[in-house]
Amino acid sequence: MEKQLIIAIDGYSSCGKSTFAKAIAKELNYLFIDSGAMYRAVTLYCMRRKFIGFGSLDIYGILDELKDINIDFIYNPDINKHETFLNSENVENEIRSMDVSDHVSRISQIPEVRERMVELQREIGNNKGIVMDGRDIGTVVFPDADIKIFMTASVDIRAQRRFDEMKGKGIDADFEEVKRNIIARDIADENRDISPLKRADDAIILDNSRMTVDEQMEWVKQIIESRRDDS
Ligand code: C5P
Repeated sequence: MEKQLIIAIDGYSSCGKSTFAKAIAKELNYLFIDSGAMYRAVTLYCMRRKFIGFGSLDIYGILDELKDINIDFIYNPDINKHETFLNSENVENEIRSMDVSDHVSRISQIPEVRERMVELQREIGNNKGIVMDGRDIGTVVFPDADIKIFMTASVDIRAQRRFDEMKGKGIDADFEEVKRNIIARDIADENRDISPLKRADDAIILDNSRMTVDEQMEWVKQIIESRRDDS
């Protein structure tokens, strides 16, 4: 039987990590996990419980209820996709809202939240062929991943992609606001103390500013083949 690979995809906000990771998982018949969706789901929980707002953060409230937060990815055959569930409720669209995007960087800086998410991510990925995308997958979650890719693209292109994605999902969005949020999240993700966004030394850089998903797939298939030949 072919070796089941762990493929880690990290990089900046909205550079198409999930789209790319999903396409690879489909090609290889692997599990795809969007780790950003997990941080977004925790953020939504904290917003609903009023543990976070503009200028306020109730850290004790969050820590107290962290154990009550369950996140699942459940397959929806109607759209042929996995969707994010927070305590059994489908929150796939709500976690992509501007409100959640505005608060998620603060929630993802909390060490206990990260510990819990990393634990869940390792459990999900244990012994399986998996493609996981995020900020710290190749550095912290799976430092021994078989393939590590670090993605980037220009800010304008990233903002346009996120804007189009939100519009496509019927979410209200303003282009300049989307762009400001992406820049702010890049800065917060790169400069936080714990598990900051950074390229793993052994990650391959992919700047997809001018690449289609098909071109990215051609590129990655060659890498997968060469890694399989090496092992
Ligand atoms: O990938 P996405 O943009 O949906 O992630 C939302 C936020 O979740 C990021 O801006 C980052 O703060 C956080 N995140 C993280 N570590 C990950 C994935 C996402 O801190 N592995």
